[in-house]
Amino acid sequence: MLKIKNFTKKYGDTPAVDNLSIEIENGKICAFIGHNGAGKTTTLKAIAGILDFDEGEITVDGMSIKKNPMDVKRIMAYLPDNPDIYEFMSATDYLNFIADVYGMSQEDRKTKIEKYAELFGITESLGNKLSEFSHGMKQKVAIISAIMHEPKLLLMDEPFVGLDPIASHQLKDILHEMCEKGSCIFYSTHVLEVAEKLCDEVVIVKGGKLVKQGKMSDIKGDSSLENVFLELEDKE
Ligand code: ATP
Repeated sequence: MLKIKNFTKKYGDTPAVDNLSIEIENGKICAFIGHNGAGKTTTLKAIAGILDFDEGEITVDGMSIKKNPMDVKRIMAYLPDNPDIYEFMSATDYLNFIADVYGMSQEDRKTKIEKYAELFGITESLGNKLSEFSHGMKQKVAIISAIMHEPKLLLMDEPFVGLDPIASHQLKDILHEMCEKGSCIFYSTHVLEVAEKLCDEVVIVKGGKLVKQGKMSDIKGDSSLENVFLELEDKE
């Protein structure tokens, strides 16, 4: 589903990501981990088609993000670390606006908005302006906007930050359900305990370079993801 080949992104002369190659198949959930400044957000933004890059190729379902940006964007969603949602809108208006962008039918959007608002416990607030929502409530709305059109590729930057324990639990169930239906999920996180349990695969970057990629069970073995990560960080 997602193929990144020799991807390099420089800010000025300094590479933020250097010659990164990753592949993730359909139906897999993959954690993207690395220290602050390792290049995770840069990579996610490039895959999402909102950041141009210097070298390499990124394809989603066989389509190049550079050559077919609209086709790729139709089948994917990107949840940034600080979602910029239109605060002058109500949650319902915002979600309907996103549903319009993705061409969802009235019936489909109604079903999905009701389902996910109920799951995240925000049904009563849907008619309120987003400016009145707490940080976590806004995060829930942004998550619903990213998942309701059933993207084949879901990219998320620190999706669990700000969510209460119940919402985190619900999100994990939703991600499993999406994977079972064949979606591919790639998300950055510093919460290694959750990643270890939730993800089939893991990609670890350091200083913009790939240091490990593979099955979670193979990479952590009998140890923990935290131990593996700390050992890798200690190495030169
Ligand atoms: P974090 O875990 O803190 O979110 P990250 O792994 O997502 O970090 P990036 O945001 O991708 O890291 O940053 C990678 C590198 O690129 C860092 O050295 C950062 O300083 C640099 N960088 C990011 N955005 C810019 C920018 N707009 N201009 C210049 N340098 C940038």
